[in-house]
Amino acid sequence: MSVGEYFRKRMENDLSLNKNDCVGFVPIQRDSIEYWQSVLDLWAWKVMCTPISEMQVIDDLYGDLPGHEFVGVVIDDRLKIANIYHTRHLRKDDIIHELLHVRFQTWTEEEVVVWTNKLNDSEDPMSLMSQFEFTPV
Ligand SMILES: [Zn+2]
Repeated sequence: MSVGEYFRKRMENDLSLNKNDCVGFVPIQRDSIEYWQSVLDLWAWKVMCTPISEMQVIDDLYGDLPGHEFVGVVIDDRLKIANIYHTRHLRKDDIIHELLHVRFQTWTEEEVVVWTNKLNDSEDPMSLMSQFEFTPV
């Protein structure tokens, strides 16, 4: 094995170790978390995904019974870590929705939903977001 081959193999191994847990997404694509982090100016944040079982989700709307579909984000402002917990494959609108919660933490659920739809339908989400005064978060 040549030196170049050795390092290529090592890199491949390292990449597979660091592989993101987000099921159904390939990095640096339009629907990727990285893309929406850049749209929402969240580069300082570490965004993680944690797949969980529906049996781990208890929803008081359903009488505290487990077994419900769930996507939600847990935000650590101090460490700038956002962890998206999900029971199913994440869709583009899930990513947008949860990252909007991170970016605009004072927004109501309704505002997040409205802007998730706007961004999800937009051909040019970058310029759509440029109307907001961006102070680094
Ligand atoms: Zn929400």
